[in-house]
Amino acid sequence: MHLSDTLSRLSESATLAMARKSRELKEKGVDVISLSLGEPDFNTPDFIKDAAIAAIQGNFSSYPPVNGYLDVRQAISRKFKRDNNLDYSPEQIVVSTGAKQSIANVVMAIVSTGEEVIIPAPFWVSYEEIIKLANGIPVSVHCGLDVDFKMSATEFRKAITPKTRMMIFSTPCNPTGSFYSKAELAEIADVMKENPQMYVICDEIYEHINFSGGHESLAQFTEIKDRVITVNGVSKAFAMTGWRIGYIGAAKWIADACNKLQGQITSGACGIAQKAAAAAVDADPNVTFAMRDEFKARRDMMLLELRSIPGLNVNEPGGAFYLYPEVSHYIGRSYNGRKITSSNELCEYLLEEVHLALVSGEAFGTPGFIRISYAASQKDLKEAMNRLKKGLAQLT
Ligand code: PMP
Ligand code: GLU
Repeated sequence: MHLSDTLSRLSESATLAMARKSRELKEKGVDVISLSLGEPDFNTPDFIKDAAIAAIQGNFSSYPPVNGYLDVRQAISRKFKRDNNLDYSPEQIVVSTGAKQSIANVVMAIVSTGEEVIIPAPFWVSYEEIIKLANGIPVSVHCGLDVDFKMSATEFRKAITPKTRMMIFSTPCNPTGSFYSKAELAEIADVMKENPQMYVICDEIYEHINFSGGHESLAQFTEIKDRVITVNGVSKAFAMTGWRIGYIGAAKWIADACNKLQGQITSGACGIAQKAAAAAVDADPNVTFAMRDEFKARRDMMLLELRSIPGLNVNEPGGAFYLYPEVSHYIGRSYNGRKITSSNELCEYLLEEVHLALVSGEAFGTPGFIRISYAASQKDLKEAMNRLKKGLAQLT
């Protein structure tokens, strides 16, 4: 076995690892409830499937252009204008095999070896590892529950050094569900104005899963727009995780760089999935509202349950489909001689003892927390809460 230095430093995706572990247990016949993966439990809407079927019948079976079909990029361009009031021409858009690839493209295109990338913690697991893959240095800025897990301009400024090249964040956020208001983004934009060497990836993949309305994009601040890369995709809002389509809007030179990179790695994203994604982004966003409303009902139910558990602290997330309670109260406790010394061990214990799969805060840069994805049926969520209560109560 001979692994490269880069791969030796890389960790397995914690979200996918937990999903794999629960799948393996299920295959052995264990009745596991998995709230580990951020994946809508709905079917892709029929009008999107119809667009894919039409693309198959229409023989969209050859290599698509690397950056995406022109009509698909035109549809995304219209979406940016309609939903976000952002002007991105089709030349400024690159379609990729999931937003994960979009983010990897941008980081590899812009960050050089030894350059620093700021990630407000809690952050989505893959940001840190993608930065490491690009030989960049992840710099995590701790944002606590008391500040709704959001980075202030002051904290942002403090983290910037002459080596800082980029900042990456998501709004609404995975894993906390918090989202940034226009005023909060304006402060981030002010810091960007003071630092012309810096770029920001604003990951808006949960845009449509927002319970309080008013999604705001960082790229609306025109003075810094050319240094903001807006990432979005169809996985979450349209229940299309397996179709693997994400995209960016960015300055043309950044889009060109991503196009060049992607052309050497994967080529264009699956043409049939692209056509389906075009139907999704072209549709009125109200087609996603029924799913959003169901997520909100689940959030409310889950919040009530979590708040009834002694010692847990939890914020009220305004979007996405995750809850991120603080579990420090239970660290240091034991069950049957097994001592729990971290949130990682707490997750392992919950999986083994009560067959509930969650993801620990370590993966998101904030030990002492656990992430609960509520993209599951209310029946499963209720049973999951019973298991969580039982598992925590038996720790003494
Ligand atoms: N960004 C965030 C914040 C996510 O939670 C995810 C989850 N999959 C992605 C990007 C990547 O999405 P995908 O590759 O499915 O488009
Ligand atoms: N983004 C989802 C999550 O955080 C899907 C898994 C992944 O791509 O990491 O669970």
